[in-house]
Amino acid sequence: MILSAMMRQGLLGLFVLCSALGAQAAEAPLLAYGARIAGDDARTRVVIDFDKKPVFFVHYVANPTRVIVDLPETSFGLKPEDLAARGLFTEIRYGAMGAGSARVVLTAKKPVEITVADVKADEEGRGFRLVLDAERVTEERFSGLLEEQQWTGTVTATKTGRVVEPPAAGEFMIAVDAGHGGIDTGAIGTETKMEEKSVTLAFAGELVETLNRETGVKAFLTREKDEFLSLPERVQIARQHGANLFISVHADTLKQRDIRGATVYTISDKASDHLAANLAVRENLSDEIAGITLKSEPAEVADILIDLTRRETQAFSVNLARSVVSSFEGQINLINNPHRHAGFRVLQAPDVPSILLELGFLSNKQDEKLLVDPVWRKKIAGLLAGAIRNYRSGSVANGG
Ligand SMILES: [Zn+2]
Repeated sequence: MILSAMMRQGLLGLFVLCSALGAQAAEAPLLAYGARIAGDDARTRVVIDFDKKPVFFVHYVANPTRVIVDLPETSFGLKPEDLAARGLFTEIRYGAMGAGSARVVLTAKKPVEITVADVKADEEGRGFRLVLDAERVTEERFSGLLEEQQWTGTVTATKTGRVVEPPAAGEFMIAVDAGHGGIDTGAIGTETKMEEKSVTLAFAGELVETLNRETGVKAFLTREKDEFLSLPERVQIARQHGANLFISVHADTLKQRDIRGATVYTISDKASDHLAANLAVRENLSDEIAGITLKSEPAEVADILIDLTRRETQAFSVNLARSVVSSFEGQINLINNPHRHAGFRVLQAPDVPSILLELGFLSNKQDEKLLVDPVWRKKIAGLLAGAIRNYRSGSVANGG
């Protein structure tokens, strides 16, 4: 109980420190050069070594139970085994959140409380270490912690505030969304250990370049670097730019390693099949991985006009998906039934036709080789540009 009272004071202290987060971000990023974790199901200690004194902020998120440590911009020079999940924690992730901030997310099996959150100077003069002690607590205590804490909101609500130039009249705007990023690495290649977030960013860049060579087209990236964007932020960025199309790019893994080829997804309440349903569940976890609390869906969904817009948008999304599949046919490997659908949250813009493109699977050796091949990427980008050209001529003919 004494520890709890101390923790409350500790948290208050952290709020004060937090206002300095922005100031520290302007300097060279922090370097996390080492980490250790030890403990059991009752208490677990996490230690992270930094080159400079880290300013940090700890808070909690429920469902699943997570401890979030917000940091200024940080380069993580850690080996995966340094922070392998153990003790009270089942999963530990860390990475960039964008806008000069980084985050460590510790997912816990049971309700936990951080009883010590302390920065100490390294005895050998090698910077500072952040020590976090977690203890198993009751559900009631954890609920109490959730209620007591205050959010600063500095980390998650930043990217969509960016200033956006309105599109020039008549320009056809295409949002190209590189899946995952920052703390959310996405899938990992079986052979090369390539991270999906890098594969998608490399391809998205190539696609934007290719599309921008088309007359009257202006393509742009939702993220230009290795940063985390929440799924609603991706949608919002596309809408702020007045996007006419939204293409989210992915390269996931499957348990069935022999499955390969590209897939084009559109949104629907009911998934077309198991594979699509599972994939949507995994993609929709992105925000949870980054420790973002989900807000409830907007009430406007019930509006009949929005419903009509949605239906129209859905028809355009399906046309685009068909056009992409037919441009890929005979040119690149496609999965069986290459147009599938499921409830992807990133495809939720009511007024922007949207598709999610799985370029191939990082779990398949042959696909993995292609996914990192710049020549193959150029070919796919060219085929997509052709598909969009066909889609546009079709949608004009349909009066869209
Ligand atoms: Zn993905």
